[in-house]
Parts: sequence; C-alpha cells; structure tokens
Amino acid sequence: MKAILLHEHGGPEVLKYGEFPTPEPGPGEVQVRLKTAALNRLDLWVRNGWPGIRLEYPHIPGADGAGEVSALGEGVSQWEVGDSVVINSNLGCGQCDFCLAGKDNMCREWHLLGETVRGTYAEYVTLPTRQLFPLPEGFDPHAAAAAALVYHTAWHSLITRADLRPGESVLVVGASGGVNTACIQIAKYTGATVYVVGSSAEKLALAESLGADHLVDRSKTVNWSKDLYKLTERNGVDVVVDNVGTTFPLSFRAAKKGGRILTVGNTGGPKFEIDNRFVFGKHLVIIGSTMGTINDFANVMRLVFAGKLKVALDRAFPLAEASAAHKRLESGQQLGKITLAIE
Ligand SMILES: [Zn+2]
Repeated sequence: MKAILLHEHGGPEVLKYGEFPTPEPGPGEVQVRLKTAALNRLDLWVRNGWPGIRLEYPHIPGADGAGEVSALGEGVSQWEVGDSVVINSNLGCGQCDFCLAGKDNMCREWHLLGETVRGTYAEYVTLPTRQLFPLPEGFDPHAAAAAALVYHTAWHSLITRADLRPGESVLVVGASGGVNTACIQIAKYTGATVYVVGSSAEKLALAESLGADHLVDRSKTVNWSKDLYKLTERNGVDVVVDNVGTTFPLSFRAAKKGGRILTVGNTGGPKFEIDNRFVFGKHLVIIGSTMGTINDFANVMRLVFAGKLKVALDRAFPLAEASAAHKRLESGQQLGKITLAIE
C-alpha cells in the first residue's frame, strides 16, 4: 500500500511517501481502506519526537481516519465489507480494570493510533472492531475524520468530566485549535454562554461563526482576565478551557469562585508557575484528561452526524503531500482542520 513513512524525527521533510506492506486483520480485527486522514497537533509532536519516545520504524503517523471496511479478521461478525466507518483512535486493551469500568482512556496498556502504533496516513489500517463507529451514508468522510479526536477529547472534558450545565458560562482560551473550536460548539449545544479569547480578528470571527457569544482580542488588551471580569460583571466564568497551560494564572483570575479549569494539553509548554492562593482562595477545581471513552465517542459522533456539531474544515491535501499539510499546520494559518485525501 501507499503510506507516509517516518524513518527519523525532524521537520516536515522527514515524511516520505512510499510503499509499505498492507496490514492484514488478525482475529477480532477489521481492515479499513482509508479515504481520509485528519491532522492533529499531536502528529507534529510525534514527527519532531520527544525524549523517551519509542517508535517502531518506519512509523506511520495519523490518529484520525475514515473509510470503508475492506477485510474481516477471524471471528468478526458485527461489520461487513463495504461498511463506512470512522475511527476512534483511543486504543484501550478492553481487559484491564479501567477498560472493564468503561474508562478505556485510562487503560493500563493505553495506546493512541499514530502515536505509539502505526496510524492513518496510509491506504489501509487494521484495528479491533470496537475502534470503529458507523459513518452514515452521504456524510463527508473528511468531516467525520476531522471531528473524531478533537470532539471526542472536548466532549470527555466538558461533559463527562466537568458536567457542564445549561446556563453556565464557559471561557475558551484560544479561538482556533481543533479541541477549542469543538469546545465552543459543545458548550453552545449544552446551553452555556461562551466567551473566547483569541489572537486575531480572523480567528475570533471563526469562533463567532461557531457560536461564541463574547469575544476578546488578546492582541488589543494588556490583561485579558480583566476584560473577562468586566464582561461577566465581576463574577468570572464557571468553566475555563485552557489548553495553553502557561495562561493558567490568567485563567485562575477569570474563573468564578468554585470554577472548574479544564486542560487536555499545553500548547504553551509543559512547565509554568501558578499562584496557589487562587486555587484554595477561589475554591478552584483543576480537571485534566486525555482523549475520551468509547461511550463518549458514540455520544459525540452521533451529534456530529446529526449536524448539531459542525467541524470547521480548512484544506485537504493529497496523501503524497503530507509534508505540505504539516507545514500549513505548523504555520498556524489554518482556519479549521486540515485533512489528507487518500484514493
Ligand atoms: Zn485496558
């Protein structure tokens, strides 16, 4: 099969388009012929590498994908060749105590497709049957793949962990990332009032088109937490979505007493100082999570397929041009998700 192969870490140029043996499905597995893969920031980190990362070379990046079932492993009866599917990239073992409790994103043998095992920048991938979810006829596979990881992650954080309620207020720090744009829509769908801090008028316009109620342009303000305080009549917000990390001091200020601070990542870097007086003085709750459970995936993808949540798409690149797609993602110029067209 054709695939994007990674033989070493480095810049976009290390993504090589080439041939790799087509994976065959083992017992309980399904082979999927991919029509599309969607890019995530994670793909850049895997490509660049980090201390301690261990990949089996050549590695194939890519967590998100959608396509058609093309072969069945032994004992598989719930799928048929030709079924359209979208992939849940959160790979639990299905057997440990966390998996048996329905917390497969906390699995003791946890893997993420395209990070610790070969992923979706390829014509074919094989997966256990539980990793697939039916893709309705006529639904754009690019939109399905682009929605999967980010909506899954956002739903688990906002709904399953933070128990967001109608009438609450949510601040999303950052207007354009995949998880952040998913959070804006999920918060609106839930009936919350949404505040967004963004770095440019263009990105804030995207946030507004996704349903954000109040916008703060951080390029035009010295301290956006003060703007938030004013906008909320000196109350602060119930929930802050902060996947930057280094902005925690400002997020603590913007939160209401008893507020929940949600984090699923740290685009600003992993280490920063916090003033603990805000945490106990304001009764703050910090909720960290990674990906989501199989239940979360089903719940949020149903809403995506029903048109209740609409993923913003930037551009689709041919599979062979994955390095150009990475360059665009690194440039930060994209508005919405970047995908690869495979076929
Ligand atoms: Zn497990």
